[in-house]
Amino acid sequence: MKRKITIHGKEIEYTLKKVKNAKSVRLAIYADGRFVISAPKWYPIYVINKFIEEKSHWIWEKVKDVDFVALAQKKKSQEEHYRRSIELARTVVHSRLEFFNCHYDLSYNRVSIKNQKTCWGSCSQKGNLNFNYNIISLSDQQRDYVIVHELCHLQELNHGQKFWQLVAETIPNYRQVRQSLKSINH
Ligand SMILES: [Zn+2]
Repeated sequence: MKRKITIHGKEIEYTLKKVKNAKSVRLAIYADGRFVISAPKWYPIYVINKFIEEKSHWIWEKVKDVDFVALAQKKKSQEEHYRRSIELARTVVHSRLEFFNCHYDLSYNRVSIKNQKTCWGSCSQKGNLNFNYNIISLSDQQRDYVIVHELCHLQELNHGQKFWQLVAETIPNYRQVRQSLKSINH
């Protein structure tokens, strides 16, 4: 829950977290300006407000130089960038899938663009394809390889010889591209 307090005329936004098993109120201010108060679930708001009041000097020392407006703008522009990247990735992935599927002629269900940390793409047994939105930051060849890789899993679920033969039909140098992808951290 987002709440606001005013100290020395400065409006400060904080997040109030009600924690089931907490025993007392805790206060944390992070370097990026996030201000979090966690309190036991049953604590009434006036107790929390009293706590804030008692700590207001300490809070003020921490936040007096934080530019909350600039921080909010930065966050907003990051979110905007993320949204645009997702949309761009969706467009690119769909068009490349259609392109390669002219060759493979396989059927897939849902195509999702996700913020996955661990992989570039995945294919479920139900035929759903997932791609990391960061796929747009790869080279065209790497991006196409990821798309073809997942597309081919619709026919061959494992990484057997038949699978790689299928991949090679459209990406003959897949070994090299695959190797180049391994060196990328994302
Ligand atoms: Zn695979």
